[in-house]
Amino acid sequence: MTGIDDLPIRDELRGKSPYGAPQLEVPVRLNTNENPYPLPEPLVARIAERVTEAARNLNRYPDRDAVELRTELARYLSRTAGLEVGVAQVWAANGSNEVLQQLLQTFGGPGRTAIGFEPSYSMHALISRGTGTGWISGPRNADFTIDVDDARKAIAEHRPDVVFITSPNNPTGTAVAAETVLALYEAAQAARADAAGALVVVDEAYGEFSHRPSLLPLIEGRSRLVLSRTMSKAFGAAGLRLGYLAADPAVVDAVQLVRLPYHLSAVTQATALAALEHTDTLLGYVEALKAERDRLVSELRALGCEVTDSDANFVQFGRFEDAHAAWQGLLDRGVLVRDNGVPGRLRVTAGTPAENDAFLDAVRELMKEKS
Ligand code: PMP
Repeated sequence: MTGIDDLPIRDELRGKSPYGAPQLEVPVRLNTNENPYPLPEPLVARIAERVTEAARNLNRYPDRDAVELRTELARYLSRTAGLEVGVAQVWAANGSNEVLQQLLQTFGGPGRTAIGFEPSYSMHALISRGTGTGWISGPRNADFTIDVDDARKAIAEHRPDVVFITSPNNPTGTAVAAETVLALYEAAQAARADAAGALVVVDEAYGEFSHRPSLLPLIEGRSRLVLSRTMSKAFGAAGLRLGYLAADPAVVDAVQLVRLPYHLSAVTQATALAALEHTDTLLGYVEALKAERDRLVSELRALGCEVTDSDANFVQFGRFEDAHAAWQGLLDRGVLVRDNGVPGRLRVTAGTPAENDAFLDAVRELMKEKS
């Protein structure tokens, strides 16, 4: 039998495993930060309408520049994220993972490096590797916040071409202050002053769930700052695969150099446009999830867990002597959460009130067993 490593694959991929959480059939699935609410029926009907329209033209390639969709995304950001942006500042792709990949293909690559402050979203490192970009693991404090001085030092030492700042951070839920982003932006530009600066990517996949306003206004006057967003979480549309960025128009022009022609299908564009018509309803679910997230934090603390403050739609909790055994203990009780490999901690996604109750009951039993 031929194995992967028998094939002439790139050396840096040898012995590596693909990214992915287990997709198990269990009653309560709170492991991938999905939105637990299915799209409302009127939106499902609207998607069917718009996709039908798109189907009539599927013999043609889609709008390569996705102008209508980018216009509506710009309108959404302008309305909700604190800065008026136009279509020239917005770019969209198949999930924010593809947005990040396009950014790394454009601004990273062989001979270049990217830094992230870990633990953080592991795909930043994996997409870096996939694009031949060297990965640097930057530091975090014990409470999972970013220490500005430590981070600055790491940037000055390694002089990365790309800096990832995830806010709210996955898997910890930690939001990053605007001042921290600004300090790291300045440090990154200073470190690479000889090379036209560095790209700083603020990954705001969970931005809508934060107690704090969006970091979008920081892109104003900073041509190397990019904000990355997704419809997978707040819009409850993980299956759609639609991510987007907001930045200086020059960044949008730059990613055109690497994007595949017609990368966003007409079906994807039609579906995303339908979802954007229902923004207000979907943001109503976000409010409900924020309340449930806050409830999870306080009830887990009441149960004696150590819980990291969360600005996302998930909560990091512990501390367990053996996090994997605790993960298994919850799974045995029908609740699937995520073991992200952070020592002693697990991550639970905020679900419906009933799902969260089931999760809290399972934790209660687990804690009883422990004591
Ligand atoms: N960024 C972060 C921080 C994430 O947690 C995720 C999804 N888990 C993504 C980006 C990618 O999301 P998507 O490709 O679905 O937009």
